[in-house]
Amino acid sequence: SGSKRYIGRFAPSPTGPLHLGSLYTALASYLDARSHRGLWLLRIDDLDTPRNVPGAAEQIINELQIFGLHWDGPIDYQSEKLADYHHAIDRLLEEQRLYRCSCSRKSLAEATHNQHPIYPGFCRVTPPDANQPAALRIKTDDLMLFFQDRLQGFIQQNLSRELGDFIVQRKDRIVAYQLAVVIDDHQQNITDVVRGYDLLDSTPRQIFIQRLLGYQRLSYMHVPIIVDEQGHKLSKQTHAQAVDTQRPAHTLFLLLKLLKQKPPASLGKANVTEILDWAIAHWQPENLKKVRAIH
Ligand code: GLU
Repeated sequence: SGSKRYIGRFAPSPTGPLHLGSLYTALASYLDARSHRGLWLLRIDDLDTPRNVPGAAEQIINELQIFGLHWDGPIDYQSEKLADYHHAIDRLLEEQRLYRCSCSRKSLAEATHNQHPIYPGFCRVTPPDANQPAALRIKTDDLMLFFQDRLQGFIQQNLSRELGDFIVQRKDRIVAYQLAVVIDDHQQNITDVVRGYDLLDSTPRQIFIQRLLGYQRLSYMHVPIIVDEQGHKLSKQTHAQAVDTQRPAHTLFLLLKLLKQKPPASLGKANVTEILDWAIAHWQPENLKKVRAIH
């Protein structure tokens, strides 16, 4: 749709090597971009420095190459763009969109008897002392934000009623993912975001910030996440195993089945390039409509 050239991206956090779940998302994003004759960019989400694992970015980059997922242009690193994030934060501060907040997660949970409370606005009403360490929260509006996800359908959320004012810069001064991702996608001229279902509920926050900064709306497609028998997302925390790089074609074939692409049995003997060529030519994301999790 539209006249703009498709530009997609994969934005892994360097917290460890790729596991089956992250490779699944990478493949979906890659196939969607290539089937649209689009560009596919790689961005390393290394903003949350305490969580970065040394060597993980290099490992991910190497793995993507082994699986034939070649990206376009230079690799972007969030850690090199801090000035851009702070520039946007300064702008939002000037517009009085942000306020300092010294509430801790623990004190909020105690005050509200809720582990994930809607922020009750304590520091919006009573600002903390100037010398107290503080996060920056963004003032949400009482209005419905909505978007049409290519797989998950119509999604809407009222941020102020369902989430409350949220943090865009942490107490340790690390810029929050929700803000950084909006600036990244804008600067890289991304048109299409393809990522895991676990980020679906972040999207209204990102659309909200996009609107405040006057950026263009993107197209979103949230693909299912791979879960274990207990229904937990595969991640470093659940000790998901790193993908087997010894048999990349075998793994890609398996992932195509998990993407419900129905690869023909004959492709089971193909090499990485042949499998990807087939998958680009036959890419049918609609097969994943309304699917949220894959076992
Ligand atoms: N870095 C994020 C993650 O690994 C993904 C960001 C995005 O795709 O918007 O979960």
